[in-house]
Amino acid sequence: ATPVSVMVGTGKAAELGVLFKSGTALEGLQATQVIALDKTGTLTRGQPELTDLTLVSGFERGEVLRLVASAEQDSEHPIARAIVDAAKREGLSLSAPESSQAVPGFGLEAVVDATRVQVGADRYMSKLGLGLADFGAQAEQLGDEGKSPLYVALNGQLAAILAVADPIKDGSREAVAALHRQGLKVAMITGDNVRTAQAIARQLGIDQVQAEVLPGDKAKAVRALQEGGQKVAFVGDGINDAPALAQADVGLAIGTGTDVAVETADVVLMSGDLRGVPNALALSRTTLRNIR
Ligand code: ADP
Ligand code: MG
Repeated sequence: ATPVSVMVGTGKAAELGVLFKSGTALEGLQATQVIALDKTGTLTRGQPELTDLTLVSGFERGEVLRLVASAEQDSEHPIARAIVDAAKREGLSLSAPESSQAVPGFGLEAVVDATRVQVGADRYMSKLGLGLADFGAQAEQLGDEGKSPLYVALNGQLAAILAVADPIKDGSREAVAALHRQGLKVAMITGDNVRTAQAIARQLGIDQVQAEVLPGDKAKAVRALQEGGQKVAFVGDGINDAPALAQADVGLAIGTGTDVAVETADVVLMSGDLRGVPNALALSRTTLRNIR
């Protein structure tokens, strides 16, 4: 590879808001056959809103929302902010939790006003040995609408189902279409539930979905895509995404994402706009063509 064309290529990319950390990254990207993307914060804005809350009979809406929002106050998960904002908008005054801890990949457990509050995905309720009462059909419908259903247990009793929805970013759909035109397969890897992930993938035209992937297993999901020697690039933003960014043949981080993701990646998309990915790929291809 001539160092000059690589320098020109990285320079042009920088003008487009794509930072290649090395010439090797620029040379490597053109060989990509599959692009895998994280969902939350990468394809979607990462700023979900609370859209639904249905109670088990006997529970009171204001009190359930107040307890859950109090529990979520110290969490940095985007879901936590959605719930806290909704409670504040309704004028509920929150209590400082006596304790609060994430259950990674499952949800959150806290004690608020001497009440044990557990909130998270359906698999978290299964882990706790709790049934989902009559919420099954509703959860499926929420998922099909692209919303993420969550469950709340208070003192070990199922109290409510709620849902958050995270809007798709401007440019995501176009980026997927451009990658298809460039001949790539596009996959999504997410911790979110299957129906929700499939609904979002459908809206975006994504070919393949791996959902309900636990935080420690995202790298394994990338490795599965690499089977048979396929070259895989991964795009992500979260702390959870760092191992997958490292495992991929090329890792691309969203510049506004977490420091760990940005540090681990080979390429940084300065804006969150995913159209940077097909642009970067096109540049990588042009650069290599000039070298050969
Ligand atoms: P992702 O960021 O892809 O959603 P996570 O591993 O962070 O992956 O979370 C997996 C799932 O666990 C979430 O989709 C959600 O259902 C649940 N969860 C995680 N953190 C929280 C939280 N603070 N409050 C409620 N649910 C949570
Ligand atoms: Mg993310």
